[in-house]
This record gives sequence, C-alpha cells and structure tokens, in this order.
Amino acid sequence: MKRRQFLGTLASLPALPAALNAQEGPPVPDPVERMTAPNWPTINLNHLGFRPRVGQKALVVRALATPPPAQFTLSDVSERHFRFTRALSRVNSDFGPFLVADFSDLDHPGLYQVTVGNERSVQFAIQEEVWRRTVPKAVGYYRYQRCGVEVPLVHPACHLDDARRRDNGEHVDEVGGWHDAGDLRKWMDVTMLNGIALLNLLRNIPEPRPGDVTHEQILEEVRFGNRYFLKMQDTDGKIWADVAGGVNGDNSDNHWTDNDIGTSDDRYLNTAKRSGTAAVFTTLEALAAQFYIKTDPDYAKQCLDAGVRAWKAFDRPPDSTEDCAWWTLAACELFRATLQSEYREHAMLLGRDLLRRQNTSYLADQRQVRGFWMNGDQPYMDIVNSAMPPLALLHLYDTFPDAAARGKWKDAVQLHIDEYLTPMAGRNAYRVIPLGLFLGSPTPEKYRPLAGGLTYRYFHPTRKQYWWQGANCHLASNALLLGWFSKLAGDKAGAYAGLAYRQLEWIMGANPFAACMMTGEGMRNPFPHSRFVGLIPGGIMNGIAGNTKDEPVLDMEYTLDWRTCEYWSPHVAFYIWANSVLEGIGLSS
Ligand SMILES: [Zn+2]
Repeated sequence: MKRRQFLGTLASLPALPAALNAQEGPPVPDPVERMTAPNWPTINLNHLGFRPRVGQKALVVRALATPPPAQFTLSDVSERHFRFTRALSRVNSDFGPFLVADFSDLDHPGLYQVTVGNERSVQFAIQEEVWRRTVPKAVGYYRYQRCGVEVPLVHPACHLDDARRRDNGEHVDEVGGWHDAGDLRKWMDVTMLNGIALLNLLRNIPEPRPGDVTHEQILEEVRFGNRYFLKMQDTDGKIWADVAGGVNGDNSDNHWTDNDIGTSDDRYLNTAKRSGTAAVFTTLEALAAQFYIKTDPDYAKQCLDAGVRAWKAFDRPPDSTEDCAWWTLAACELFRATLQSEYREHAMLLGRDLLRRQNTSYLADQRQVRGFWMNGDQPYMDIVNSAMPPLALLHLYDTFPDAAARGKWKDAVQLHIDEYLTPMAGRNAYRVIPLGLFLGSPTPEKYRPLAGGLTYRYFHPTRKQYWWQGANCHLASNALLLGWFSKLAGDKAGAYAGLAYRQLEWIMGANPFAACMMTGEGMRNPFPHSRFVGLIPGGIMNGIAGNTKDEPVLDMEYTLDWRTCEYWSPHVAFYIWANSVLEGIGLSS
C-alpha cells in the first residue's frame, strides 16, 4: 500500500499545533503553563508497587485539607485479611505541605491499597518483579518507532525516499532507523541512545529469566536501528546529525511521504557533523562490536571499523562537558572491544578532564552543595545527558580496575551524590532531583533560592528559549547513576538504590498529578502527543514540566501538548538502562 493510500484511510490529521512552527522571538505563555496539579487525588504513589526488600516504600499525600489527615490505613486486597493503621508524617517540602506514609518494613508479597480518610489509592503490588515486568513493554516501544519498513497494525512502510542532502540536494539512502518521538524525525544523537540502552540491558542482565526480552530480540532490534546509523557516517568518518530534523530548526520535514525518490515531499538530510554525535556513535558501534562478535563476527567488525573511523575523525579535545563525558564512554567501549592501549590512554586523559570540570569547592558564596559539574562558568545542565559526567566516571571505574585514578573517579561520584543529588532531592517530599542549579535569576521567572548566589529549578526555565519541556530522561538517567553507584557503596547501598527508585516512581505515578506517564502501565495516563501512530505501549512521555513559578504542569486535558506529553527516545532508553542496573540489586540477599 502506498503511503498516500494509507493516509486516505485516516481521518484528516490535526493541524500542527501552532507552537510547533514557532521560531525565534520572545517566548510567550503556552496553554500548558496553566495546567497545574488538580486538588484530587491527593494520594501520590508509584502505581507499579515496590520490591519487597529494595528501596523505601512510601507514598506522599498532598496536605490540602484543613485539618490535614493524621493517619493512613494499608489493606491487603488479595487473599489475606491484613491491615494496619499508622500515623502520617508531616514534612516540609517544596511544592507545598505534604504528609508521608512509610511502610518500608512491609515485605510480604501481595496486592495492597492505602486509604486516607475517604480516598483510596490505586492498588499496588509488593513483589520482586514489579519493575522488571515493565521492561519488555519499554523495549517493545522501539518496534512501533521503526522507520522504512511496514510495522504490522501500526503503519505501512514509510519514508523509503529518505533523504536529500540539505547542502546540495543529492539523494542519499538513509532509509531505516527509529522515529525519534511523537513525530517522524530521525535525530542521530538521541535515537542512538536506544541502541546503547538495549546493549547495556544485555550486558547487565546476561542471563534473561522467563518473561524477559531475549538476547535475540535485543540484538535484532539494535541491528535494525544500526543499519541507519551506519549509513549516517560520511566518507571522512564523521557523523551526520539527522534526517528530517527540519530545515532551519522548523518542523517542515515532520510528515509522511509518498515513498518515491525525487518528488517534492522528500525529506532532508542534515549534513552537520558534531563532535557529540560522533562520540555517541563511537560508543554504540564499539558496544555492538562486543555483543555481535559471537553470533556475527563480520558484522561486529563492520561496527568496530565504523566506530574507529568516527573516533579518528575527531582527534581534538572535546569542548563541552557533555562531549567530554560521551568521548569518555567511547574510549571505554573501544578499549573493551579492542584492548588497545591507545584507548586506555585517551580514557585516562578524558577522565582527568572530567574531574577538572567538577565543582569541588563551594560556588557562589554558599556552603550547602558542591560536587556538581560545570560547563564553562555555569553549572552543567542538560535534560538528556543530565547524569552523563558521573556516569562516564563509573564507566571508567568499571572498565579499568587497575587504574591509579580509580579511587578519584569513585570519590568524585560519591561527592556528587552525597553533597549535591541527595540534599537537592531532600528538598521535596517526592525526593526527585531538581533539573539544575543556576547563578541568580537569568530569566524573568521564579528561581528557587538555595544559598548564596545559587538558585535552582525543578523544571526547565520557560522564558529562556522556545524549547522547554518535561524531563523524565533527567530523572531516569539519575536513577541509572544512583543504582549503579549503589553497587559500590557498601553500607549506603540501600539508601542510594532507594533514591534511584524514587526518580522512576515519579514517572510511574508518584507525582502531584497521580499520573503514570508510561502508556500501558498505571492509571490516569495523560494521552500522549503521538500524532502519527497514536498510543505506543511502553512509550514514556516527556513528563511534568514547570511554569514560570516552577510549579508542576502536565496536560491532562488531551490538548496534544508536546512539552509534557510527547513520547521521546531518551526517556525510554534511560528507563530501560536504569532498570537493567537496578534489577541486579538485592537478588543475592
Ligand atoms: Zn518513517
């Protein structure tokens, strides 16, 4: 079936939200900015439930009533006649007054429900597999996002005419890859994260248990995406940025096409070559080299050669902290794939650079937090790569067990977690980590005072630039960091794993909207901004963003808001990767 015929079977597609075509100019209020949390429900908990002996079991109650409720009752709703009533603890917190119900001591597997006054929570499980059973669904998300092939029951073969070069109009075969989000565009840096997460799932769960995604499925999915990634390498070894990202940053290439090469609807190949994209590419190809070597050595060599070419094409030191982190990962994975000292030596240099970029003294006349990363003279902040600098140090730590700097890498991550992430998460009852620190108030909106000249926001500033959105990937990547570090942390392992799960719990319903943001799990799901294929089981939306007051906002009104409700690759990728690490915790106890 030709693409146009398929489109004819659909009701007319909605017009693009006007905001999606907006370009330069001062930011204007977006309708989602008024979509603050409703007064009901007041019970906020992760809808999946809890592992019996890992992490903290707690839920948050928004103290909106006067007087606030004093106690909660927890009941077994399955077969046992079991219940208890306990006091709620009042906590000081950002976002308003809260009460916390803690039942961490309850480790009997079962299905439970909490009531506070007349309000019931969703039912939730205490069971070892509560998180693990969501992972196949998250992995299945990628099949729906396949481009260049028919996805049965989802869409016929699409974009067989990708793509024409922006610079000279020449056609280049760029069929394949994954659509990146609730749109049809194919950014390299973020969709390659999918492959990296899937191969790390394979690395961290080397022996799948019944019900898990099989290694064959993972390898097949990664190879599918990687056909496109490999085609995005230019003859000089460098990596092109995207297909259909939109000319001049607009949304003009976000459409189905007629699949005929040379017609006016062909989408554009962005031939920009960025250092960070090449670093992610090198990381992925060096990983692939390790994981296909047994089943397909020729393919493994093809991937390795591509990764080495990309590495060699960028031989100058990275400028940004983000690029420095990714080149560190690339060096680690190339060393693992080849055992060549060249990569080890570069990894040591990059590790030194990463340590130099960490703020170990107290910035801006305060003594409350340190250990965060800097990018130039500003605190580092990037929603996708939020945790990449410390994650890169953990990669070094795992890759080079005999390195002299190993203690320094571990200490740097510990400082970051103990003196930055943990105290910042402690400022709210949900224990989520704010998006970042700022120096003063760089834009005309609320920045929460921290101490000295430092401020923070939980969410992107909305008056800095047009692009601001929810950042579930920021939470999931920090969950990955905390979960990974907990394995090195001895007595503090439980606290770190618990904080890791709190980040994922926000995504799964422990938030002021009591909304689960993965399609196919939990309750009160927002409807996703997914204008071409609709619901995708396992898809994770951008998530709760903030308005000018840094109050949580989320579109629960089905307005197709992309800032909060669009699916996006990095959320799913870091969710899978984080769970792959967290699953290994506590199994032997
Ligand atoms: Zn497509």
